[in-house]
Amino acid sequence: AKNDHRGVAVATGDAADVAGRQRLTTLEELRTGLDRRELTLHYQPQMHLGTGVVTGVEALVRWDHPRRGLIFPDVFLPLAEHAGLMGRLTLQVLDMALEQCRDWRADGLELVVAVNLSASNLQDATMPGHVADALARYDVPPAALHLEITEEILMRDAARATVVLAELRAMGVRLAVDDYGTGYSSLAYLHALPVDDLKLDRAFVTHCDTDPRSAAIVKSTVELAHNLGMRMIAEGVESEAALSRLREWDCDLVQGYHLSRPQPADRLATWLRERQP
Ligand code: C2E
Ligand code: CA
Ligand code: CA
Ligand code: CA
Repeated sequence: AKNDHRGVAVATGDAADVAGRQRLTTLEELRTGLDRRELTLHYQPQMHLGTGVVTGVEALVRWDHPRRGLIFPDVFLPLAEHAGLMGRLTLQVLDMALEQCRDWRADGLELVVAVNLSASNLQDATMPGHVADALARYDVPPAALHLEITEEILMRDAARATVVLAELRAMGVRLAVDDYGTGYSSLAYLHALPVDDLKLDRAFVTHCDTDPRSAAIVKSTVELAHNLGMRMIAEGVESEAALSRLREWDCDLVQGYHLSRPQPADRLATWLRERQP
């Protein structure tokens, strides 16, 4: 038993070492990647259900790694957050998104761009100033920028987050609660926080056409949002059936694979032109 125990302990130690070394390499690579501006954005359209018009896009970050190819955010965002790199990362994303937004507008595409914020961004009192600088740099009106904040993050330190959010909103930037329904939902924060849109998590949306419980949640959330003067955005719309239910229930905006997957800016522009001649 003693040997077994030691054996396991040694094996665990080795595994932890390897994992630790890998994490270190990746962290160094991530730092270098940020320095070399290897991050890139894909954009996923958001459509207004009442009119069928694509009114905006969500910017989703990818790491265009020189050797490993395109890496998805789930892999490197936790690392960035853990290593204190999230401030830099968000500023790069914001910069790219607003530059793109400016170019689209110059080409006659009046798109709003939504950028995701992380937990540390909301604890950073300098954040609103950076956002204002970036908007000015690209001469993009604040109303053309939406910021998405997950419910889980909002709940973490609501008092400090509220200060940052209020400042952003006072500038005219629009705020959305992301992944709504997956955190420790509290109606108290919806009541207190200065937010404009509810973005219901795809867990409730994708099967809302077949699953009665999802349907009930979607319908009630639309009502809740509207009663609070907010708009409801449904993410994870993967079928025409779900889309038509959402339209029936008066959902405001939809986003999902059914409409389009996230794609590079040039492909999105082509897609838009073919769709809305
Ligand atoms: P999210 O903000 O909830 O973004 C939506 C995610 O769902 C995206 O994954 C998108 O590709 C995916 N998605 C879109 N439509 C559908 C659909 O119809 N079905 C399904 N199953 N999935 C769909 P992605 O791009 O891998 O991003 C994952 C998460 O990483 C995002 O979730 C967001 O939390 C985070 N993220 C992405 N970009 C950024 C960023 O620039 N900054 C920060 N802080 N977080 C980001
Ligand atoms: Ca989001
Ligand atoms: Ca989401
Ligand atoms: Ca999510």
